[in-house]
Amino acid sequence: APTIGVLAVQGDVREHLRTLAELGVTAVPVRRTSELEAVDGLVIPGGESTTMAKLVRTFDLFEPVRQRIKDGMPAFGTCAGMIMLADRIEDGAPGQETLGGLDITVRRNAFGRQVDSFEGDLDVAGLDTPVHAIFIRAPWVEAVGGDVEVLARVGQGQAAGRIVAVRQGSLMATSFHPEVGGDSRVHRLFVDLVRAE
Ligand code: GLN
Repeated sequence: APTIGVLAVQGDVREHLRTLAELGVTAVPVRRTSELEAVDGLVIPGGESTTMAKLVRTFDLFEPVRQRIKDGMPAFGTCAGMIMLADRIEDGAPGQETLGGLDITVRRNAFGRQVDSFEGDLDVAGLDTPVHAIFIRAPWVEAVGGDVEVLARVGQGQAAGRIVAVRQGSLMATSFHPEVGGDSRVHRLFVDLVRAE
């Protein structure tokens, strides 16, 4: 079974570790370079992307993670993790850094005050039945490059049509939190990417 790390500087690390463990992979927290070297794939959790970026800097993990992504390590970001994997941010904090890798532009806190946090059923490419998706001060994907596959769009309401899940090669990201709510199928899609490497 592959070993999958969860970047463990900030955010909902435990929920990801639990979901991955349910799928029978070895799931480990990653806080240092030696731990990063031991994983076959990396999850970047939900949390707060500006704080996470600062802590990744403090832990000297920016360049090592970027390098592994460049070398083809699969990575999966949820919410703040999606922001971390994006090449470009709108409404980021001044000078906010990302790891990058995904050729997307994300808009931070995109859903606005009225629908700040919400949940709903979402059709995701590759899954037979909708996922119950939980959005918490979530970003959406404003623009995608040519190699990016859209996995899900919001189905209804003011934000209908907005892109909330993407894949590019072995990188995946969701605006919502599949680590919360007990449905491990989105993680399974990622585990399949890791196994395919
Ligand atoms: N709004 C947060 C950010 O900008 C993301 C929220 C989340 O991960 N639930 O990082």
